[in-house]
Amino acid sequence: MTGPPARREFLGVAGIGVFVVAGLLILIAIIVAGDLARKSAAQDIVRQAEATLLLDQALLSSELDRHRATPVVLASEDIILEALRDPAPATLARVNARLDMLAVQTGAAAIYLLNREGRAIAANNYRTPVSFVGDDYAYRPYFKTAMRAGSDEYFAFGSRSGRPGLYLSRRVGVGREADGVIVVKIEFDTVEAAWRRQAEQALVTNRDGVIVLSSDPARRFRTLETLDGERAKALRDSRQFGDAPLTPLTPAITPVDDGRVQVGGEIFVPLRRALPVEDWTLLLLVPVADADRAAGPVRWAAGLAGALLMVVLAWIWRAHLRRLDGQRQQAEVRRELELRVDERTTALTAANVKLRNQIEDRKRTEARLRTLQADLVQANRLAHLGQIVAGVAHEINQPVAAIRANADNALTLLSREQPDEAQAKLTRIQGLTERIGAIVEDLRGFARKTPPRTTTVVVDEAVEGALLLVSSRMREDGVAVERTGEARVSAQADRVRLEQVLVNLLQNAFEALGDRADARIGLDVSTTEDLVVIAVTDNGPGLSKATLRTLFTPFSTTKPNGLGLGLVISRDIVEAFGGSLVVASNGRRGARFEVRLRRNPA
Ligand code: ADP
Repeated sequence: MTGPPARREFLGVAGIGVFVVAGLLILIAIIVAGDLARKSAAQDIVRQAEATLLLDQALLSSELDRHRATPVVLASEDIILEALRDPAPATLARVNARLDMLAVQTGAAAIYLLNREGRAIAANNYRTPVSFVGDDYAYRPYFKTAMRAGSDEYFAFGSRSGRPGLYLSRRVGVGREADGVIVVKIEFDTVEAAWRRQAEQALVTNRDGVIVLSSDPARRFRTLETLDGERAKALRDSRQFGDAPLTPLTPAITPVDDGRVQVGGEIFVPLRRALPVEDWTLLLLVPVADADRAAGPVRWAAGLAGALLMVVLAWIWRAHLRRLDGQRQQAEVRRELELRVDERTTALTAANVKLRNQIEDRKRTEARLRTLQADLVQANRLAHLGQIVAGVAHEINQPVAAIRANADNALTLLSREQPDEAQAKLTRIQGLTERIGAIVEDLRGFARKTPPRTTTVVVDEAVEGALLLVSSRMREDGVAVERTGEARVSAQADRVRLEQVLVNLLQNAFEALGDRADARIGLDVSTTEDLVVIAVTDNGPGLSKATLRTLFTPFSTTKPNGLGLGLVISRDIVEAFGGSLVVASNGRRGARFEVRLRRNPA
C-alpha cells in the first residue's frame, strides 16, 4: 500500500537525509566562507603592505638622495680644495665649521675630510671627544675605492662611534691629482624607528644576505642563510660589521606554501624590493594572522546563518510532518467513526427487526390470549350451564305440569259451560308459557357467545336473570335467598356478563354452604355517589387464609371438580366494565363478595 503512512515514512527518512546533506553543505560553506574571508583580508593586508613597501623604499631613496648631494657639493667647494692643499689652521677651522653646519642642516651622522694619505684633517665633530680629526682611515675600503674610482658607498661599523652607517665617499680633485676624500656617514636610526611603528616587519639585506637595517635591532648583522665559510671569514676580517658574528637569523625565515614564510610559528607574506644602494634589498614581512582572524567572525556568521537555516528548515519540515500526521489521524478517526456508525446501524437494524418480531409475537400472543380468555369465559359459562340446566328443567317442569293441570281444568269447565272460569285457566296457562319462554330465553342468552359491550344496565334485570337460573336448585336444597336493598338502579355493565358474574358468586356461596341446616344467601344492592354495590353474602365457613391468598389466581380451587377460574374470570369481566370485584368481609360466619360498578358512563 502506498498510502499516507508509507509517504510519511519516506518523508521521515528523506528528512534525515536532507538534514545530513544540508549540514554538510553548511559545513563546506563555513569553511569556504572563512577561506574566502581570510584570502580577501590577506589580499587587503598585502595590498596595504605593498603601498607601505613603496613608501618605505621612497623614504629611503629620498633620504639617500638628500645625503648623496652633500659630498658632491663639498668636493667642488674651493675651501675644501684649499684645506687639502694648504691645511693652514685658519682654513681648517673654517672647514670644520662648514662641515659642522652641513651636518646639522642635512642630519648626517658625520661629515669629514680625509687627505690623500687617508688621515682626517677636518670633521664636523672636531669639538667633541670623539673627534675624527687626526684619525687614519687609509684602510677603509670607502677611502680606497673613492681615491681610485672617484666615489663609493659602503656600509660599515664606525671605528670610533661603534655605530653602523652608510659611508658616502667622494674624491676631491681628479685622477692621480686627487687631493683627498670627503666622507658623509648616514645613520638610519630614524628610518628604523619609523619601521618599528609599522605593522610589517622591515629589514634590508645586502648582497651576502647580511641584514644591515632592521625594524628589530636584534636582527641586525644576522644573515638570512648560513654564509659560505670563506666569505664569512673575509667579511669578519674586513671588520665591515665590527665584531658581529654574522650567524643565521633565529628564528629563521622559512618558506611555506603560497610563497608565504613562517617565522617562529607566525605566517608572513614576504614583499621584496631592490634599493638604490649597493645590492640592498628591502624585505617587508607582512603578518597575515589578522587575515586568519578575519575568517573567524565570518565563519561564525556563516555557521550561525546555517544553523538558523537548519532550524527554520527543521521547523518547516516538522510542521509538514505534523500536518501529515494530523491528516492521517483524522482519516483514521473518520474511518473508525464510519465503522462504528456502520456497526451501530447494523445493530440497530437487527434490534429493530427483533423488536418488530417481538411486537408481532406479542400481538399474536395477545390475540391468542384474547381468544383464550373469551373461550375461558364461555367455558366457565357452559360449566355453570350444566348445573343450571338441572335447575331450569325443574323450573320448567312446574309450569308445564301447571299448564297441563290448567288445560285439563279449562276443558272440564268448558264442558260444564263455565267459559269465564275456563278463560281464567287459559289466562293462567298464558302466564305460565310466558314464564317458560322467559326462562328459555335467559338460558339462551347466557349460553350465547357474544362480544362484551359496556352499556347502562338495569341492575335488577341482571339479578333477576341470575336468580332465575340458580334459585330453583337452591330452593330444592332448602337454601333461602334473601333479596334486600335498592330497586331500579342502573350501572355500567354488560347484562349477560354481569349475570354470569352473579351466577358465579351465588354458585360459590351455595357450594360453600353445603348441607347446613340454616343456610342463607343474601343479595343486597346499594349505591354510593358513584357506585352501585351488589353484595353476595353467605353464612358458610368463610375463606381460609390460604384460599384468600390465591383467590384470584387461576386454577386455585378447593373443590374436587372445580376449575379455579370462576373468580379470576369474574374479576376480569367486572374490571372490563370499569368496576371491581373484592372480598369485602370474611370470617367464621361467612363471606361477603362485592361487585362494585360505576353508576355513570366514564
Ligand atoms: P371454583 O368454584 O371452580 O373452585 P372459584 O374461582 O369460583 O373456582 O372459587 C375459588 C375457591 O374459592 C373455591 O374453590 C372456594 O374454595 C373458594 N370460595 C369461593 N367462594 C366462596 C365462599 N362464598 N365461601 C367459601 N369459599 C369460597
